[in-house]
Amino acid sequence: MATAATSVESGRPGPEKAAAWQRELAGSAPEAVLAWAAQTFGDRVVFGSSLGAEDQVLVHMIATVKLQIPVFTLDTGRLFAESYDLMAQTEERYGIRLQVFCPDAAEVEALVAEHGPNLFRKSVALRRLCCEVRKIHPLRRALAGKAAWICGLRADQSMTRSSLQVVEWDAANGLFKISPLAGWTDAAVWSFVRTHQVPCNPLHERGYPSIGCACCTRAVAPGEDVRAGRWSWETPEKKECGLHAHAAASAARSACVSG
Ligand code: SF4
Repeated sequence: MATAATSVESGRPGPEKAAAWQRELAGSAPEAVLAWAAQTFGDRVVFGSSLGAEDQVLVHMIATVKLQIPVFTLDTGRLFAESYDLMAQTEERYGIRLQVFCPDAAEVEALVAEHGPNLFRKSVALRRLCCEVRKIHPLRRALAGKAAWICGLRADQSMTRSSLQVVEWDAANGLFKISPLAGWTDAAVWSFVRTHQVPCNPLHERGYPSIGCACCTRAVAPGEDVRAGRWSWETPEKKECGLHAHAAASAARSACVSG
């Protein structure tokens, strides 16, 4: 099987190759997609975990069959205490070490000096600037030199993700993005978690279906959209932080590891 690099170098642009792979992998089980990614991209694929339930399912699948796919996560510096506990619990359960990428200290200091510690409340632009410094810049370091990254996104998580494919070309970062759980429902994720006793953030049971930074995440009421608790003061079409810009999100000028 051709590698991502040879495919692109041989004249097939990223979007075209992603579409071909999408057709090839349509309907495949997540475990098969992960194995395909490891074989196809070798040491140039990485899994970016936001520590959500979907990401924990993927860590379980990767670690159980010992796929050689490194797992990284972003520590924005403003996570819930429960998220740090989950990092430690995940490492212990699966015998792996998470690669943790943090924001540049000088950048954060300049940001806070100019706009204050809670700038994200002042405007969408400043919220995006905070996400840029605390998430996107560390993400770029995490993805440097990679040909593909794996995410725990699902299509039915929000209106900005409804067109999500298993394989997409991530134009913003210049590599392939693979979402093995794109077609899974929330019920399927939790069924897997219960069956395999996958460690998950206890905040999920306290009304937090989607967990990001503590200052930008609230619990949601029963029946509310799963991402209603993220940046709850903003309108739904703006609720992406730039980590996952795909067609629909881009259209809305939305430029989050499943964050
Ligand atoms: S989620 Fe909030 S605190 Fe976290 S990086 Fe984005 S704006 Fe900043």
